Amino acid sequence: MISINNKDYNFSCFKFKKKLLDIIYKLGYKQPTDIQLKCIPYFLKGYDILGIAKTGSGKTASFILPILNNININFFNIQVLILVPTRELNIQITDSFKFFAKYDRRIKVLSLYGGQKYNIQILGLKNKPHIIVATPGRLLDYLKKNIINISLVKFLVIDEADEMLRMGFIKDVESIISNINSKHQTALFSATMPLAIKKIIGRFMNKPKEIILNLSKNNILPENIEQYYCLVNSWKNKLNILMKFLEVEEYTSVIIFVSTKLYTVKLSHFIEQKGYSCSAFNGDMNQKLREKILYDLKNSKISILVATDVASRGLDIKNISLVINYDLPIDIESYIHRIGRTGRAGKSGKTILFLSVRNKKFLFYIERHIKSRIKRISVPDDNFLINYRINKLSNLIKNNFYKNDKKYFFYKRILSSIIESSKLNNQEINIALLDLIYKKKYLI
Ligand code: AMP
Repeated sequence: MISINNKDYNFSCFKFKKKLLDIIYKLGYKQPTDIQLKCIPYFLKGYDILGIAKTGSGKTASFILPILNNININFFNIQVLILVPTRELNIQITDSFKFFAKYDRRIKVLSLYGGQKYNIQILGLKNKPHIIVATPGRLLDYLKKNIINISLVKFLVIDEADEMLRMGFIKDVESIISNINSKHQTALFSATMPLAIKKIIGRFMNKPKEIILNLSKNNILPENIEQYYCLVNSWKNKLNILMKFLEVEEYTSVIIFVSTKLYTVKLSHFIEQKGYSCSAFNGDMNQKLREKILYDLKNSKISILVATDVASRGLDIKNISLVINYDLPIDIESYIHRIGRTGRAGKSGKTILFLSVRNKKFLFYIERHIKSRIKRISVPDDNFLINYRINKLSNLIKNNFYKNDKKYFFYKRILSSIIESSKLNNQEINIALLDLIYKKKYLI
């Protein structure tokens, strides 16, 4: 999804501080993405910015880098305020800030969000951070209690602004902004541009430079995400179909979106029982647990996440190659955000939307909105599944046979004693062994 169209540019064109530039290259970024190329020069010059860009397009670095470049480290007040709708996005942005700020140990970044203990955050505030990444509710709480002073903020970023609106944060955001007394630069980022955003721009921003990358011409979604839909008829049928796809699809990690918290737990238990490493992910889980699950997913300790829409925003996990919309998203924004969890950082991704014939209208509605076709995918039939299993098993067997392995002689001895004692022939023994393998679900 990373779109880098002008290969003539590299990060030196922004004239960043040398140490910051070193960190950028160390991370492996070679060229700026389109949004970075367009945003950063305006940001460095002090303009307000309205950035509308595809999810996963490199938005975060397009504000972190110029902010770090322009920040005054010797001024020990909160200078930067980043407002985000969810805890996950908060943690992700905080981590990116900390990563890029590594070149100067004096830069302090603090993250404030609901669900974390107050005393940890209050201690962090006493440490005089330069940069605060906050969810609106918790920040407003501190403002009301006079625990935090944001009056001298110089850079304000409102990320995922459309989501802030939808979650009813907009009043909180306005109250927060009214606490900033100094002249400041504002950047507002969003993956979509609902009418309500257009309305608030005038209130929050001063003649912003508009960088609109995704609402143009043909396709508002990244080209590297292949989108499919699959027709399902009943609840039971849906579960069977899901298991078939999980078996035959090639993926590194998967997110399966469902509509209720309860069902994340039920479905993930079901999938786990079938032998997969899977976890539920929903807003009722405490923060520590959610962080642990995301850590495990990033590090391939689990490969399947069954989640509610709480996971549809902001999560940047590069190895998610498949997103399954098991239950329908509530609206087009939710669809775009859910499928944007795959195809990150230029990798390819695949998405499958489960749909009943009754809901086909929703498919046409999505297609109209995203201006591209969603192709139909058929459920793998029994023949396909049998061939797939045979192939997989025969490859496993071939790849597991080493004649000079120590175990070779040990297994040979066992085999001769089985032949002797059981009176079964070689083929019969092989069949019995295959049956054991199937029962143990070694195929997954
Ligand atoms: P974001 O849209 O900010 O969530 O970024 C999506 C992903 O793209 C993240 O994994 C970033 O690390 C990665 N990324 C951002 N900028 C670049 C770049 N210039 N080159 C390569 N990867 C990038």
